[in-house]
Amino acid sequence: MQNSEWSGGLSGTLSKKCLGCAGNLTFDANIGALVCHMCGKVYDSKSMEEKGSFALAFREKEYEEGEDVAAEDLDKVEFVCDSCGAQVVTDTNTTATFCSFCGSPTLISRRLTRQFKPDMIIPFSISKEKAMSLYDEFLETADKVPKDFSSAKVRERIKGIYMPAWLVSGELKTDITATGIRMEDGIQACYDLNRTLTFSLENIPFSGSKKLGQRMFEAVEPFNMKEATDFKTAYLQGFYAYKYDSLPENMIDKIETRIDDYGRECGKKSWDGKYDVASDHYQTALTGVNVKYCLVPVWFMCYEYEGLYYHFVVNGQTGEVCGRLPVKESIAAKAINKFGKITPVLFSVIAAFLIGLLFMVYVTIKSGGNTPMGSPMWWLLFLYSSVVCMAITLPTVYIFFYKRYINKQLKKSSEKSPYELDRRPPVEQYFALNGKINLEKNDRFATALAKTKVGENETRYTML
Ligand SMILES: [Zn+2]
Ligand SMILES: [Zn+2]
Repeated sequence: MQNSEWSGGLSGTLSKKCLGCAGNLTFDANIGALVCHMCGKVYDSKSMEEKGSFALAFREKEYEEGEDVAAEDLDKVEFVCDSCGAQVVTDTNTTATFCSFCGSPTLISRRLTRQFKPDMIIPFSISKEKAMSLYDEFLETADKVPKDFSSAKVRERIKGIYMPAWLVSGELKTDITATGIRMEDGIQACYDLNRTLTFSLENIPFSGSKKLGQRMFEAVEPFNMKEATDFKTAYLQGFYAYKYDSLPENMIDKIETRIDDYGRECGKKSWDGKYDVASDHYQTALTGVNVKYCLVPVWFMCYEYEGLYYHFVVNGQTGEVCGRLPVKESIAAKAINKFGKITPVLFSVIAAFLIGLLFMVYVTIKSGGNTPMGSPMWWLLFLYSSVVCMAITLPTVYIFFYKRYINKQLKKSSEKSPYELDRRPPVEQYFALNGKINLEKNDRFATALAKTKVGENETRYTML
């Protein structure tokens, strides 16, 4: 009896329908609410009250065939790449001669097939010259860059592109339960920690174009939203804008994961180092979800090399750079990474023995059988000539290597690359203006354990 009641309750929850589009609602443990993956609406699981939406309130409308383009879209044109399908929008005064994504020169220009109306735009503040010099610095960080990457063909593919971004805002509530342990007068005290953090997050950006992956996007974040302004076609002149090809309601998982991580990040800070936290559990919920559509400026380059795509992305507002280059290390670089500062010594010893060997080949031939290879005399001469050579190779190789490679290479391998892809900005970056963290504490003493030493390395805890 009880069993059927349980299953009835469960299937009742699962079959709840979205009040907006009648799509099936699923309970999402990440945000602790019911979510419609069709339209993005979020509902409280008990009261069915709408708690926000991952969808855009006003989305771009497709133009039907034969339908006239709206007056505000007449000043724009669309280019479609025949080879990779990339679609860019620009103003009618700007042309495109090749695809900035795949490099294909076959572009078809046409009138817009969909409205183009972002809520906001952040204009470019980084010039093309600056972007190019950042590219040169980027190339210098790799040890051996294939020639292609510094060729004019690749350099001219760096283009100023407005990328579609979904800016997600909402109030984040994180419930935390954990066990905290601390020492009190030589006794180990355990506490049940129950905390609730509430704070507002504002304008967390998510890439709306599959051409720019979220990891790369996060690596060049943040964008300063104070400079965002209403969209006008004039901003497109000389630049291109990618049309969005993924909608926020299709990337709810991605959004929730990041929101969830941010909830944990703040939760961990709330311990203040007062406890050793043994086991913690987090439950996050984002309410009042609101999504805006903003164009953000990036200098962008994508190049296919030996079957892999390599990207170079510059935040067109702040100059933050991320990218990847093919890794091809020289023998010298590999040796330096392995042997460190002793590498020049190893190289000069090897060089000296090689020269010594060459000398011995000469001697063996010249002496006409008087010093056969492998004889004690031969070995003696070989060692002697090699050691003499070392007096020349040691300083030569050392000076050459030390100046040119060693310090540079050791520094490079110990430092984190400034161009790394996984660089998500910390949660503080997206706190709402004048936002405060509201922290409710309900920490309770649970048990105390007395610590007794048993033997050398073992300690035993007994409940008091
Ligand atoms: Zn729906
Ligand atoms: Zn293309």
